[in-house]
Amino acid sequence: MHYRLFCQTPESRFIEIECRIENIVEEVVEIQLPAWRPGRYELQHFAKNIQQFGVFDKNNHPLTFRKITKDRWRVEVGFETEITLRYNYYANVQNAGSSYVSPEFWYINPINLCVYAEGRLDEACTLELDIPDDFRIACGLRKQGKQLLAKDYYELVDSPLLASATIQCQSYEVEGVRFFVWMQGNIKPNWQQILIDFEKFTRSQIEMMGSFPEAEYHFLNLILPTPYYHGVEHRHSTMIVLGPDDEGEGLYTDLLGVSSHELFHAWNIIRIRPQELLPYDFTKENYFSTCFVAEGVTTYYGDLFLRRSRVFDDAAYYRELQVYMKRHFENSRHAAQSLTESSWDLWLDGYEKGIPQRKVSVYHKGALVALILDLTIRKIHHHQRSLDDVMGILWDRFGIPFVGYTLEDYRAVVEEVAGDSLEWYWNDCIVGNLPLENHLNHALVWVGLQLVSFSDGTVHLQELENERATLQRNKWLNP
Ligand SMILES: [Zn+2]
Repeated sequence: MHYRLFCQTPESRFIEIECRIENIVEEVVEIQLPAWRPGRYELQHFAKNIQQFGVFDKNNHPLTFRKITKDRWRVEVGFETEITLRYNYYANVQNAGSSYVSPEFWYINPINLCVYAEGRLDEACTLELDIPDDFRIACGLRKQGKQLLAKDYYELVDSPLLASATIQCQSYEVEGVRFFVWMQGNIKPNWQQILIDFEKFTRSQIEMMGSFPEAEYHFLNLILPTPYYHGVEHRHSTMIVLGPDDEGEGLYTDLLGVSSHELFHAWNIIRIRPQELLPYDFTKENYFSTCFVAEGVTTYYGDLFLRRSRVFDDAAYYRELQVYMKRHFENSRHAAQSLTESSWDLWLDGYEKGIPQRKVSVYHKGALVALILDLTIRKIHHHQRSLDDVMGILWDRFGIPFVGYTLEDYRAVVEEVAGDSLEWYWNDCIVGNLPLENHLNHALVWVGLQLVSFSDGTVHLQELENERATLQRNKWLNP
């Protein structure tokens, strides 16, 4: 499949797409636009942003087609071996999963607007951008002038791009892998600081996991004048939208937090993938119950790596820990669902506020149960084993060979590392939903920390004066 994107009037926010499909052997072809995007497990119905749609043969004669679902078209190809689809897409949203065009810059998530022909997802794709000559393209895909090359459709739609004449970029290298940091927006980045800090947390992550999944990686940052915080993981890149651009220190802390989190996703979910998401089915919900591993463990490690690599000091790390604690205990302490149930129901109401005390956050409660697990394993094995070993085994057995894992696989690996069945952990914290406070404090007190609950329902993280606990804490945070 070959795609060409062009914009006759970028001010209108409409982008034109021409998709050429060759070597057709069937008389009927089904064309699909994804109904959702990886990283956000809810239906988004991108087809509602298509205003006009047509299909043409080699001589530009229109072919007969009809819609058979909200985002699937059945095209009568007859004996033609090549067809061209021509349609447009309204690109007017600047968040980390959408698309936006203006005369000054293009921001494209190909999953929003690149259709595929059923049965041909594994074929190579090219994406040609009809952009001004002074635009620079930031994207994880291989570049050939204004053309981007993808091994298959899965890679294409896992590769967002920014293009403009004003985009800024610097890079650094760790263990033979080149990391690019791109910045689009009204901002003067402190590159010296960025390169020092990014190199530190990147090195810390690669040291723990042993190897990096990609030969190259791109942090794509779009900085807005308005308050914003959104990041999405991709195969060889991450798309991050932050703001406001005049926030200074706070914006930088957000950049570090979200970047470390997204980088860890390069292993955890991009390659260490729940079995239910392998391969992705872009037409409908892909239910899975392990998002607390994908998002919770990643949230936990995103901040922990910033501490371990000394980008954060203890106080900065505790502030982040306290955020998950506040979000969980102050918002959903009495929620009815377990983590596995809330993971499943992401597709239902995972990204909206929802009704009171129904669901738990796979991010915040997920991070807290990862913390409990890590400290539990460390305590049993005197820091000789930890959650690091669990992630290492998942990487070796499921990530490197790229075969999906199930909830049972995760449980088995945890039990293998812990050397214990940890029944209470699964029953109370993961598939069941008992109050978390006692288990959390039991884990925390060993490293000299404590969660304090006040009568108004608020919580606070406190450091305890205890020499032995301080020793354990140092082994955990400064391995
Ligand atoms: Zn995430």
